Amino acid sequence: MSADSYERLVAKLKRAHYLSTVAGLLGWDEQVNLPPDSADQRAEQLALLAELQHAAAADPEIGTLLTELESGLGISPADPLENAKDRGRSSQATPTPSLTVEPVCHLISDKPAVQADRAVVMREARRDYDRVVKLPAEFVAEKARLSSAAYHAWAAAKGKSDFVAFAPFLEKHLALAKQEAAYLGWADRAYDYAIDKHDPGMTAAKLTGLFTELKTGLVPLVRRIAESPVRAKNGIFKGFPVEAQRAFLRDVTERLGFNYRRGRIDVSLHPFCEGSGADIRMTTRFDADNPLDSLFSSIHETGHGLYEQGLPLAAQGTPLGQNAGMGVHESQSRLWENQVSRSRAFWKFFEPRFRERFPAQLAAVSSDDLYLAVNEVAPTLIRVDSDEVHYNLHILLRFELERRLFAGELEVRDLPAAWNALSQELLGLTPPADSQGVLQDVHWSGGAFGYFPSYCLGNMIAAQLWATALKTYPDIEDDFARGDFSRLLGWLRTGIHRQGRRYETLELVRRVTGEELTPKYLLRYLEERYAPLYL
Ligand code: ZN
Repeated sequence: MSADSYERLVAKLKRAHYLSTVAGLLGWDEQVNLPPDSADQRAEQLALLAELQHAAAADPEIGTLLTELESGLGISPADPLENAKDRGRSSQATPTPSLTVEPVCHLISDKPAVQADRAVVMREARRDYDRVVKLPAEFVAEKARLSSAAYHAWAAAKGKSDFVAFAPFLEKHLALAKQEAAYLGWADRAYDYAIDKHDPGMTAAKLTGLFTELKTGLVPLVRRIAESPVRAKNGIFKGFPVEAQRAFLRDVTERLGFNYRRGRIDVSLHPFCEGSGADIRMTTRFDADNPLDSLFSSIHETGHGLYEQGLPLAAQGTPLGQNAGMGVHESQSRLWENQVSRSRAFWKFFEPRFRERFPAQLAAVSSDDLYLAVNEVAPTLIRVDSDEVHYNLHILLRFELERRLFAGELEVRDLPAAWNALSQELLGLTPPADSQGVLQDVHWSGGAFGYFPSYCLGNMIAAQLWATALKTYPDIEDDFARGDFSRLLGWLRTGIHRQGRRYETLELVRRVTGEELTPKYLLRYLEERYAPLYL
């Protein structure tokens, strides 16, 4: 064994990573720039890149190098399930990553910090590699074909509010999801596997505990707000020119800390953020009569972008240069979107600048009306239109249904009835049609189970991070009132961004906030933000 083996491993990982960034860029371009008749050619390009990327990530030499490096460090050959368990268990007890690093091979490095970094890279590379090579090619192809067919079936079914037409595709997806878990050695914990794919170390049991406590506190708050006579005024924003909106959101996102020399923002149908390291592509959308939609979508994507820009560039292409998972990612977007940008301090600085750009449009809008519009709360059937108070209830509903489906407690054909009952229980609303209920989201058509919980997890993490930031810097909102967000960003850079995939979700939270993840900070934040406005 030699130091070369580690360097060769990193080179292989980078090759796979850079191929995936090219695919990401083509995907971004497809949604931002692609001429209408170029879609077929783009599909060919993306299919070729997916093939190349898969081959690079499944390169047998990665497996050989990992085995060689692991045996040199006295690590037993990887059992993926054991690895996954170890990640959670040992990482709780030790400040260094979970593999036991013994100075067996002085050629690798004699510096503990370097050894620790390399142990993280190897641990995570093993996890990724096993997940790539343990799925048979025919299985991957079958899942891709199903996803494509199911997407079109879902779109048609949603249009006609016809769940029965979509149900067979969902049944097949559920069967494949269980099959995938079995290939990876999680046959008896298929839903845990689906969750762990998005948020390493998280399980259905842990989520059930967190979500049950959240629900207990959240439902009464929602009911109290629903009974409030206070309502944000409808239709107070009219005729905000797109160019001026664009200039305003550039001012906002730049002040939050987004580096436009390493990223850009464009327009697409649905806002998203793509890319990592030195090239972040965000998108937004504009509506002349709804400037807050564009603004808050942009701030949300900026939160994602700030995270990606803050990952250590020197480690790009290795797990240390990659994000820690969906829940942590969403915590970054939500923290900037909600805790920061819906605050009085934020608007103290930005309201005059907003009025300066739109003097006529805002002439009749009072400061109170503006702030209430920023913090509007009203129940809706549709998740993506939801305010931040109701949003988590939409997620609890989806999590509960996924959990029952995987546990065999619920049949796919009974989903609409179960959805409607839970919707009534949690939101106080029953969808008049499945298009506004069980068929509203695209996720399940792609077989993306275990994905929804990340949104709620992100909200909880954001609130807990925010509480810790306030404890660390009690006067931090004074910064916001001056348009300065650098202290908060610097704190997130150190605690979250620079850690890459060093820790699993829950351990990262524990390390940065000093306690276990709990919903109490989210409940406290929502109470403190919305009670003064509505109760
Ligand atoms: Zn997001």
